[in-house]
Amino acid sequence: MRELELIYEGKSKQIFKTDSSDRVVIRFKDDTSAFYNIKRATIANKGRLTCDISSMVLEYLNCHNINTHFIERVGDDGQLCRVVEHVPVEVIVRNVVAGSMAKRLGMDEGIVPKNTIFDLVLRRSDLGDPLINDHHAVAMGLLSYDELAKMYEMSAAINKHLVELFDKAGITVVDFKIEFGRAADGTLVLADELSPDTCRLWDKATGERMDKDRFRRDLGRVRETYEEVAERLHNALK
Ligand code: UDP
Repeated sequence: MRELELIYEGKSKQIFKTDSSDRVVIRFKDDTSAFYNIKRATIANKGRLTCDISSMVLEYLNCHNINTHFIERVGDDGQLCRVVEHVPVEVIVRNVVAGSMAKRLGMDEGIVPKNTIFDLVLRRSDLGDPLINDHHAVAMGLLSYDELAKMYEMSAAINKHLVELFDKAGITVVDFKIEFGRAADGTLVLADELSPDTCRLWDKATGERMDKDRFRRDLGRVRETYEEVAERLHNALK
């Protein structure tokens, strides 16, 4: 595989073409942002760390029969991935109430609901990424009801595996965001990173936040905490 020219650059990632039309290399940047790019920073080594963590998690999911876009790690900060047609929605899976759900529903952060909560979000930053429901998604032609059912089934399975893996690292998976794509044969594929940038992770022993909330809420030690998540995951996977 030969890495070719840059085809996309976002806030935290770059995507490069390869000599194979169905493969891309995704590179993770040190840049971070929150609140629709109002708060921005560059955190040394963050690209390498989020790539490392996300590669471990996606490889773990691949081994547990979850269809993901991840093929292999490429250097320190890159991943070779399958090209998919992105579905313009996000699924947010919540095991513990936090963040926007706590704010929107007036609930305290830290409440553990009886059931797992799945939010469906339309990826439209110009509209503030609104919450939608299945009927909106079908009416807008984004997904069929069958695909939605499959997407929730995959999201629940991903959650189960994440909770098990992070439990071995002494970390509670509070919530996380995932995106999907369609492979050439139409099957749904998890096509996203899973790292402290996209998951809320709380230390089981102390309740300390081990994720991007350290940046969002100015809690400090962002890089050091991401390093600890990576180290704990490496140990959990030994
Ligand atoms: N999340 C994300 N990207 C987004 C929005 C949310 O990765 O654009 C993640 C976030 O890190 C958290 C989960 O999705 O783990 C739920 O986020 P929430 O809806 O609570 O929004 P927040 O208050 O974090 O903006």
